[in-house]
Amino acid sequence: MENKKYKILFIGPQGSGKGTQAQLVAEKFGLPIFSTGNILRQRIQSGDELGQEIKSLIDAGYLVSDELVNKIVADKIKVEGQGGYILDGYPRNLAQAEFLASQDELTHVLEIDLSDEKSIRRIGGRRTCPKCQTVYHVEYNPPKDDDLCDNDGERLIIRDDETEEALKKRLATYHEVTEPVIGFYKNKGIHHKIDGRPAIAEVFEEVMKELE
Ligand SMILES: [Zn+2]
Repeated sequence: MENKKYKILFIGPQGSGKGTQAQLVAEKFGLPIFSTGNILRQRIQSGDELGQEIKSLIDAGYLVSDELVNKIVADKIKVEGQGGYILDGYPRNLAQAEFLASQDELTHVLEIDLSDEKSIRRIGGRRTCPKCQTVYHVEYNPPKDDDLCDNDGERLIIRDDETEEALKKRLATYHEVTEPVIGFYKNKGIHHKIDGRPAIAEVFEEVMKELE
């Protein structure tokens, strides 16, 4: 098993825990995680020509085009991904998936499945302290005092991107752009769906079964 070259994509909605699972698999096999956000940030820090182009786009409030994202992910895979890697957040649409397939062949696409209702319950229940940034959850990790931070007594807030309305929008976008990506990998026979409802350790067991 150790000699296998894993090229894994994690896919799943907000709150599915896919980032956590990606982290666990990365530790288990010593694989790098390539997430779009991180790769963009690293490229900007490198200060090369492409990095500067990306910075000026983001500073001006533009989205980074598929073409640019494709290019920097392809570079990353070439330089650091030869022993395998985990992708998180890329490809996020069919055009990116098709491009990636022209560059490299993934071995596993693991979809961590979670209903919209569950996703909203997990993320929508979060409360954040605006002062010390501690994150609570009304159900799973409530503060001792209703609505107040345990550390500093500050009134907890719901982040703008974690309101039910914002979550519904994000989930709608997720379904719209991700379902074709999932279909693409189903056709390739490398897609596996994993139930994201159980505890982290149980989900990880299922993930490992798919990777054996
Ligand atoms: Zn606090």
